[in-house]
Amino acid sequence: MSWLKRERRGIKSRGERKPEVPEGLWTKCEGCGEALFQTVLEENLWTCPKCDHHFRVPARTYLGFLADPDSFEERFADLEAADPLEFRDAKMRYPERLRQAQKETGMKDAALSGVATIGGKPVSLTIMDFFFMGGSMGSVVGEKVARSIEAAIAERRALVIVSATGGARMQEGILSLMQMAKTSALLARLQDTRLPFLSILTDPSTAGVLASFASLGDVIVAEPKALVGFAGARVIRQTIGEDLPPGFQRAEFVLEKGFVDLIVHRKRMRDEASRLLEFFWRSTRGFAAPGLPSPHPTYTDLPAVDGDNRPTR
Ligand SMILES: [Zn+2]
Repeated sequence: MSWLKRERRGIKSRGERKPEVPEGLWTKCEGCGEALFQTVLEENLWTCPKCDHHFRVPARTYLGFLADPDSFEERFADLEAADPLEFRDAKMRYPERLRQAQKETGMKDAALSGVATIGGKPVSLTIMDFFFMGGSMGSVVGEKVARSIEAAIAERRALVIVSATGGARMQEGILSLMQMAKTSALLARLQDTRLPFLSILTDPSTAGVLASFASLGDVIVAEPKALVGFAGARVIRQTIGEDLPPGFQRAEFVLEKGFVDLIVHRKRMRDEASRLLEFFWRSTRGFAAPGLPSPHPTYTDLPAVDGDNRPTR
């Protein structure tokens, strides 16, 4: 079967061609094909100045776009996944896969958690990282989200979660799926304590994560054109045997269907998150528990959006 094998060597394919510009200096926009200078992309928070395509960014980069500068204090950084199923995929064992992802991303797992302020409001924050095994949710991501919710409740902070994920992590099987129930149950507790949860969906926000905490926000905000859905379009098309409408599962489509509340450009995300948190901050008198004063000394110091500084009921 010689035609299945490449017997002649030295045939140059397009992929082997040397790039004409130094790597890393230019990035081709996946939206419009424009070659973009790295510094231009950084200035635009990794969105295309020509077509507004939002590039995927690591969790720490997104943190810089969202939280107030120097306000972040990382927590639960030491959590690492075990290998309870002794899972092995076609290429390597799960622990090796983890080590490789850790080396590539500098993260221990696919989420970054901690406390910070956004527009001066205290938040408990988790940002998922798509570059770590597709932002998949295993026991560590689930536990970080769970602890973020608990920290929000204990310290009367707003909860903010930024999703960037392909769903549950198959290498941990049922343990990954259990994270869906765990985080959803804790969010019910958060709701009882009258603290807000702002869910931010970036590209992609899908499957088990969307089917649990990501879709349970008091306000659900998506970045433009982010993929938001449960099963993939191909699977749905095969199952129902029909063509899907244009733009299916994109943020604009699910906004129209009422699944998300707002689509916000990344450059306005911090301002918009601040505005939303301000609303909850005022309506709960500084994230105060019912009948108690706000535990946050900043409550009376912060100027309100309309300049009125008095506590409101
Ligand atoms: Zn573009």
